[in-house]
Amino acid sequence: MIARMISISRIGTALPPWGNEGARTVGDDEDAVTLAVAAGLAALGDTDPSIIGDVVFVSRDFPLLEGGNGAALLAGLGCDDGVRIREIIGGSPAVLDAIAHATDGTLVIGSDAAGSAGASAVLCGRSGATVELAGRVTRSMPVTTRDARGNSSDYADPRLLRERGVNESLARLGDPRPIAAAGLSAREAGSVCDGNTPKLVTTGASAIGFALAALVEQGASGTVLAVEQATLVVARLGEGNVLVTRDEPPARPRPGGQLAPGASVSISLSAYERAFDAKLRLAAAECADCGELSYPPRHRCIECGSEQPTTLVPLPRRGEAYSVATIRVPVPGLISPYTVVIVELGDTGVRTLVRLTGATPGSVAIGDTGRLVFRLVAVRQGVPDYGYGFLPDSAQAEQKGAA
Ligand SMILES: [Zn+2]
Repeated sequence: MIARMISISRIGTALPPWGNEGARTVGDDEDAVTLAVAAGLAALGDTDPSIIGDVVFVSRDFPLLEGGNGAALLAGLGCDDGVRIREIIGGSPAVLDAIAHATDGTLVIGSDAAGSAGASAVLCGRSGATVELAGRVTRSMPVTTRDARGNSSDYADPRLLRERGVNESLARLGDPRPIAAAGLSAREAGSVCDGNTPKLVTTGASAIGFALAALVEQGASGTVLAVEQATLVVARLGEGNVLVTRDEPPARPRPGGQLAPGASVSISLSAYERAFDAKLRLAAAECADCGELSYPPRHRCIECGSEQPTTLVPLPRRGEAYSVATIRVPVPGLISPYTVVIVELGDTGVRTLVRLTGATPGSVAIGDTGRLVFRLVAVRQGVPDYGYGFLPDSAQAEQKGAA
C-alpha cells in the first residue's frame, strides 16, 4: 500500500437537538443534506467557502439516489456549483479513506439521518494534524441490510459480527490497538481500543469525524479505526492544531404533533429550478439600476420598474421575527402544530416567510432574534424542497441553560 499524507485543519460537527444524550433523531425538517450543510458550515466558520476545492459527501441516507443531493449541499455551503462533489454511499471507513486520499482544500462530510443522526465535516489541507492511511480490509458481513426499496432486515447476531466480522478483520490488519473506533457501539469500541476511547453519539458515516474531533480536543495522536460491519480502515493521526467547532445543542425530546394524512402539495420542477439558487443560497436579486433587493427575485424591480438583468447577492443570516403565527389546522403532508415566522433580515429591509426550527412550536414572539438555517421545507412528490428555517436565539439560550 502506498503511504499518503494529508493534514486536517478544521472539523465541524452537527447534531439535531432532538433525542437524548445517547442518540439523536432528525426533526421533520432535517435530512442527511441539511445535517451535512450544518457540519460543513461549522467546519468553515468565518472562512470563505471558496477555499473548498473538492467535496466528498458520504452517507447511507441520501434523500435522492438518482442525484441532486450534491447541488443542494454546495448551495447550502455557499460553494460555487463548479466545485467537484462526489457522493459516496458508505460509512466511516469510506470517510476515513476519503480523508487519507484528500488533496488541499477537500471537505469530507459524513452524514447520518437514519438511526443515530448527526454529521461531521473535516477540512483537509497542508496544515494541521496529519492523517496517514495505515491499512484497509474490505470484507462482507451483512448482518443488517437495506435494499434500494428501503426494505431492511437484521440478522441480529452481534457475537458473529464481533468475532468473525470485526475481530477477524482486525487480525488481518495485524491487530492494531486503536485509540478510537468509529462505527461501533461504545461498548464494542471499548473492547478493541487501548485506553479511554471517546464515546461517540453516532455509528454511521459521521462517527469518524466525531472521533477525530474528540481526539484532537484531547491532544491525542495514534491509530484510529473506522468500522462498518466487517470492513475496516485504519489510519494514523499525528499531532497538530485542528480547530473543532461543534453545532451540538443539548438533547431535548422532539415535540409531538400529528402528521396529517392525504396527498401533499405537488411540485413544479420548472418553478423549483427557477427558484433553486436564490432559495438554497439565500440570495436576493439586486436591481442593476437602483440597487433594490428582491427576495424571491422578480423579473421587474418593485422600486424602479427596471427589467435589466439582476445579480444575486447573499442575504444576512441573522434576523428578527417581524410576525409570527402558529398553525394548528392539519395540513396534508405536514406535522401540525407548526409555527411560521416572517423574518426581517438584518438591515436589508428584506423579509422572508419561513418555518420555526429547533424550537417548540409557538415558542417564538415578535421581535425575537435568531438566524436562518438550511432546512427541508417540504418533500413534494419525492423531491426534497430545501430552504431556510428560523432558529431563535431563545432556543439556543434555553439549550445553553439546559447544558
Ligand atoms: Zn430598481
